[in-house]
Amino acid sequence: MKLLEDKIIKEGKVLDGGILKVDGFLNHRLDCALIGELGADIAREFESAGATLIMTVESSGISIAYAAGEKLRLPVLVAKKHRSLNISDGVYTAPVFSFTHKVENTVVVSREYLTAGEKVLVVDDFLASGNAALGLLSLIEQAGATCVGFVAAIEKSEQGGRKLIEEKGVKVYSLARIKELRAGDIKFD
Ligand code: 5GP
Repeated sequence: MKLLEDKIIKEGKVLDGGILKVDGFLNHRLDCALIGELGADIAREFESAGATLIMTVESSGISIAYAAGEKLRLPVLVAKKHRSLNISDGVYTAPVFSFTHKVENTVVVSREYLTAGEKVLVVDDFLASGNAALGLLSLIEQAGATCVGFVAAIEKSEQGGRKLIEEKGVKVYSLARIKELRAGDIKFD
């Protein structure tokens, strides 16, 4: 999506370790007009996928998932991130190693809100190594629900996450696909 690519070129900052900082428009200060456009694009792509639920993980996926949910008229389920395994009954859990923070978290959703038969569209801000995506897919599998697609606003294709998701038979859709991430030189697919 040209709008997002232009914004990344103009305002994104490349940090050490292959991290792209998008704090100015996507996950600290939010550019609501841009995020609204991301939601509209996601809705166009998945309008006939039959999704019944959008799922994301706190916190930086929430705004994009909300924008898509608003357009598709679907509820958004936000998986919680916990540092410990001290978690109550009535939930599904999966471990997720955080690429940006280098810690293992547990992602958690209530069994009340993720139920068998649900058709889930997963939406997140970034796709890098695919760990977060696999954690969310595990929650969906545990519930006996199905995943109709995985959306990332920004995909860093060098890190290979797409393959892991596609191997599970899930369609991957990203709005900006970065093939090379170097300070002053960001290249898109
Ligand atoms: P993965 O699990 O695919 O390696 O990484 C996905 C998660 O890590 C995303 O939910 C996102 O929060 C975070 N992440 C991965 N790469 C980046 C990055 O370059 N910049 C930012 N801001 N977050 C990232």
